[in-house]
Amino acid sequence: MAPTNSVFAFRQAKEISMTTFRDGGCLCGSVRFRAESEPLRTLICHCKFCQRVTGSTSYAESMYALDAVGFSGEPMERYSHLSEGSSKQVHVNFCRRCGTTIALTFERWPHLCGISRGTFDEPNSVSIDSHIWTSSAQTGVVLPAATDCFQFARADLAGAPETPVRFDTPQLARARNA
Ligand SMILES: [Zn+2]
Ligand SMILES: [Zn+2]
Repeated sequence: MAPTNSVFAFRQAKEISMTTFRDGGCLCGSVRFRAESEPLRTLICHCKFCQRVTGSTSYAESMYALDAVGFSGEPMERYSHLSEGSSKQVHVNFCRRCGTTIALTFERWPHLCGISRGTFDEPNSVSIDSHIWTSSAQTGVVLPAATDCFQFARADLAGAPETPVRFDTPQLARARNA
């Protein structure tokens, strides 16, 4: 194939993928983003890290290739935290003015970016594929039926996928020592 043809094919593919995008931003509007194409997956994480970082029960994020997300406005602040599980850094990217956590980036997966679902202008336009780290879900949290639920991560540290559970009826989480 001639080089000019392959460039043209690339441009066409890029234009097609750009027809789907989602905009979002932080609470105060200082940071905005546009995520192109569909997310690779959207999940709710119940791990202790996500409970702390949100100050809530869990963290909902849509995973994208890092180069599919463009940020604008004020530069974000970054806090890096050593993951107990993987011993790799997880980077929390947040608005320095209002504190909204906008994105997680990862030492372990440098090509990926997790966008906080609640920062999309239309959060309901992305649907939840799975719940992970359900073993540490807070007491009283409901795990839905007919949705992939992983007790821990979606894959082990070597990258081998774990097998999810799908409940027939919604399950009320109960902490072991509560
Ligand atoms: Zn802000
Ligand atoms: Zn988590």
